[in-house]
Amino acid sequence: MIKQMNIEKLQLFYYELLTCLSPQQTEDIYERLTCGMNEQLDTDFIGIYLFDSWTKRFSLVSQSARNQRKVLLNNIVEDQVDTYRTAIMDGTMTLTLPADKLFIVISPDINYKVITLKPAEGPAGLLVLGYEAADVTWENCVFIKQETEKVLSYVFLLDESNWHLEKNQYLFEITSTFFMLNNKTDILMKIIASLRDIYPSFRFYLLLSQDHDEVPGLPIKSLKYGDESTKLVSSQAFINGTVQIEDRLHDQSTCVYAPLKGLQGVYGVIQIVSQTFVEFPSKEIDFISKFANAAGKAIENTTLYQNSTHLVSDLKLLNDITHQLNSNLELTGITNLVKHQIIQMCNASEIGFVYRMQEITNQFEVLEGSTAFFQSVEGRGFVRLLVEEALAKKESIFSGDYNNSHISLPFRSVMVIPMENSGLVNGLVIVLGQNPYSFTFDTFKLLQSIIRHSTLAFVNTILKEQLQKAAATDYLTQLFSRSYLDEKIMQHMGTGEMGTLILFDIDDFKKVNDTYGHYIGDGVIKQVADIIMSSIGEQDVPARWGGEELAIYLPSTDLNEGVHVARNINNQVENFTEPRVTLSAGVSSWSMEEADSAKDFFVRADKALYEAKSFGKNCVVKYGRKEQKVEEADETRLL
Ligand code: GH3
Ligand code: MG
Ligand code: MG
Repeated sequence: MIKQMNIEKLQLFYYELLTCLSPQQTEDIYERLTCGMNEQLDTDFIGIYLFDSWTKRFSLVSQSARNQRKVLLNNIVEDQVDTYRTAIMDGTMTLTLPADKLFIVISPDINYKVITLKPAEGPAGLLVLGYEAADVTWENCVFIKQETEKVLSYVFLLDESNWHLEKNQYLFEITSTFFMLNNKTDILMKIIASLRDIYPSFRFYLLLSQDHDEVPGLPIKSLKYGDESTKLVSSQAFINGTVQIEDRLHDQSTCVYAPLKGLQGVYGVIQIVSQTFVEFPSKEIDFISKFANAAGKAIENTTLYQNSTHLVSDLKLLNDITHQLNSNLELTGITNLVKHQIIQMCNASEIGFVYRMQEITNQFEVLEGSTAFFQSVEGRGFVRLLVEEALAKKESIFSGDYNNSHISLPFRSVMVIPMENSGLVNGLVIVLGQNPYSFTFDTFKLLQSIIRHSTLAFVNTILKEQLQKAAATDYLTQLFSRSYLDEKIMQHMGTGEMGTLILFDIDDFKKVNDTYGHYIGDGVIKQVADIIMSSIGEQDVPARWGGEELAIYLPSTDLNEGVHVARNINNQVENFTEPRVTLSAGVSSWSMEEADSAKDFFVRADKALYEAKSFGKNCVVKYGRKEQKVEEADETRLL
């Protein structure tokens, strides 16, 4: 029988226990509790079990026996555990537990009582009292229960605050560590290492949203989030950004899925797998969630940083190209520049530039500077197909597994970007790679920007070159214009050693016009131009001097060679024109050995021509530099 006096001492014991307890010293509190109680109550043995939410069992937190024997089992393993818990919660005072559930060795004369513990804070528990003879009164039971519950509640709160302090300190430190790492892989490594440290008996996986390179030592699994798999708990964690818990029947384990969540998105999911079914306490889930969020923000940070450095280098590249494009390049300069940049950007096998040279006829040309494939028959066939497709769709093509039923190509990766200006497709840039998926989407995007920036330069330069050509060409004869001829002569007189000019004038052309009309007259001028064109070399510059006067500048040719060329042409004109006409020609030359001017050079040819007319036409007259007089007029007559 427990005496009244003992109760008073017991009261004092509880009081002292509570008042002396410092927040940092809760470790041996259960032992002090059971020892003290055992002493005060003069019981045979005493033990306290508390419900462990992880293992879902009542676990012995401390026991004390008079003879220091361990009598109680460490855990109450029993399928009735839930029933006990419910009974405790419902306010039942004592429970009847079979001896084999509690004791290591069962002796028939053992007396014991199981008092329930339902502290205001913390898990439910059981207090097992063993005594030899006397029983414990109901009142005493109530008292012991209440006082023990107070102690338990207080200890629980202290432990909780210690736990939170510790975890917050940990989270603070791990967050700083995460943010010091500057790449995603290092952060993932740190996540796994830390979790293994905190929960040594669990397994961990990283479920990642994007294709992630294999990293040795990192348990990475790919996260499936297609329609079918959205039902999966892991996908829910990824999509909703909240921690999910799953009891898996097939391997009797509990999984926690914690999203790696940043401010702008979720970067993957941490999967934590227990060895058996466990119930994760909500504070633990809260900790895991905070841990995963810290990691997620760090990953976001490095991703954003990497994206921004990419962006900066992309912008720099664009800026460089734009700068160079603005420096008045010729067309080949532009194609070479853009080609060079594309090669630097991605390991392309072939690069082609296709441009619409004639808007009306839809005539596309492969520009100089395109790689060899585009000059081949196969390449041109492919270009034709792409042109049709691009004109119809006006859209870029980006494929890592290109298939075209009309043509089989040795290229699996294809990027085609239209050069668009004012809503018109002016051309295409085609980039080909032999291997499948050679180019990343980022490369494609950057290529689009480069083309957008360079299209105007392409259009302007091609227009400029076309205009220059038009200005340098005579429309009727397709010979060069007089201004072009003048320019070439000036240029050559500055750099060359000698040159000869022949001026032709069609004889009695008025009569041709009068007899046959202007239209036929034009045709005759054209016939003479064609004869001239077919009688000269590549270096020579044939031009329409004016009306029915034509000219040839022969660089690096002396006077007599010039006379020879002129005679040959005169001869052909006389024989092959219809209606038949004849030419008079004046020939002059210059050489670097004698001081001369372009003006004098022209005047001499003109004078020689005048002389040819006065000699009776259809003849060639040359005008030497020094003599300033007509030579061998008659001799050159062909009639
Ligand atoms: P000459 O032998 O002295 O050169 O006699 P000509 O009749 O050829 O006289 P001239 O060279 O002075 O006159 C050239 C004529 O050619 C005048 C003009 O009507 C005609 N003509 C000039 N340009 C053209 C042209 O582009 N087409 C046609 N059909 N006739 C032209
Ligand atoms: Mg004339
Ligand atoms: Mg004439």
